[in-house]
Amino acid sequence: MTELPYSHEAPVSQTLFDRAAAVTPGGVNSPVRAFRAVGGTPRFMVSGDGPYLTDADGREYVDLVCSWGPMILGHSHPEVIAAVQAAVARGTSFGTPGEGEVQLAEEIVARVDPVEQVRLVSSGTEATMSAIRLARGFTGRSKVIKFAGCYHGHVDALLAAAGSGVATFGLPDTPGVTGAQAGETVVLPYNDLEAVRAAFAAHPGEIACVITEASPGNMGVVPPLPGFNAGLKQLCADHGALYISDEVMTGFRVSRAGWFGLDGVEPDLMTFGKVMGGGFPAAAFGGRADVMERLAPAGPVYQAGTLSGNPIATAAGVAQLRLLDDAAYGQVDAASERLRSMVTEALSKAGVAHRVQVAGNMFSVFFTDDEVTDYEQAKAQESFRFTAFFHSMLSQGVYLPPSAFESWFVSTAHDERALERVAAALPGAARAAAAATE
Ligand code: PLP
Repeated sequence: MTELPYSHEAPVSQTLFDRAAAVTPGGVNSPVRAFRAVGGTPRFMVSGDGPYLTDADGREYVDLVCSWGPMILGHSHPEVIAAVQAAVARGTSFGTPGEGEVQLAEEIVARVDPVEQVRLVSSGTEATMSAIRLARGFTGRSKVIKFAGCYHGHVDALLAAAGSGVATFGLPDTPGVTGAQAGETVVLPYNDLEAVRAAFAAHPGEIACVITEASPGNMGVVPPLPGFNAGLKQLCADHGALYISDEVMTGFRVSRAGWFGLDGVEPDLMTFGKVMGGGFPAAAFGGRADVMERLAPAGPVYQAGTLSGNPIATAAGVAQLRLLDDAAYGQVDAASERLRSMVTEALSKAGVAHRVQVAGNMFSVFFTDDEVTDYEQAKAQESFRFTAFFHSMLSQGVYLPPSAFESWFVSTAHDERALERVAAALPGAARAAAAATE
């Protein structure tokens, strides 16, 4: 490891992690941050600037996580920060309607054609939970189809991911989710329209909705096969169920109109989060007006939130979205493409079996030769190679998602200098991946 400029030691982060572990379960407020999939000390970050993060030990990293998607303009973008500062100076929460909420809703409706009305919430989890409640309330049915490997936040019914195949009821994947909650969820293999067809046939008149990631990024990047989303839409229409496209990750990231902007399949309901909040807790669900109008106070389906449409979060979201024009998406796409070709070159040179899978400007690296089209295939990769790759990159000042099953994210701020730093780190990381053993 003599070639590496950074040590693996992170003494200040380790001290903070020890303190955190005493007062917070596992030392973190969201599990994957704990580095359990890759081992080692999670880095406690103290600041972010453009494509860089600085940790508590004073080390700078090129950030390829971008807060798991939201920071599409890079960290501390001056116009977003200015909008936030102006909003803070006016007060932090009013518990009343405010113009910022209207602006953010208008921006979403203007960008995404199928969204006629939108309700703001504070997290992607709330968005998917509420969309499912609304779908059940609208259709008067209880069952939900989801796909193995798709993550929709920690909604009880959507954590059911065990079991696959036709008409298999999900089993709770976590203690605390009851059999009754999980039993209403039908979990099917991703990209398998036949399984969806069979599930509709097995449960006539019972399925309220199909929820899917517009293009999954939570089992690594596994895009829908041609015709899959359109097929889901058609099956839902044929059987009186709603088609819910979860764009929490892809929304406003892969294009102005998210994945919908790339595949054009019109969902009945959509969910958003991440980019639309500019780094603050803001998320949304929206879609057909006749469905959305069933929400309280217009209709009987209850949904609410003390901090929904918070003025700081909406100011950040509006500022970020307004900066995301075609030129900005062009920059993100170009940075992503450049990075992908650098990764491919380094891994190929080191003789490491790999596959870079792409959805717009999102991508991930699977350590396998085979195309990955579902969760079972994703799990079959040699993820021990990712662990070695990750730690080599980290020790050279590149911050990757600490799991082989996550998308990598870039921003408009990932300029030549940042990409050159990644390029310099890749050969060593590729060699580490090649040498790794299980
Ligand atoms: N849906 C998708 C597709 C996601 O990727 C996520 C989070 O990563 C969520 C929902 C949940 O969002 P949140 O973490 O804001 O609750």
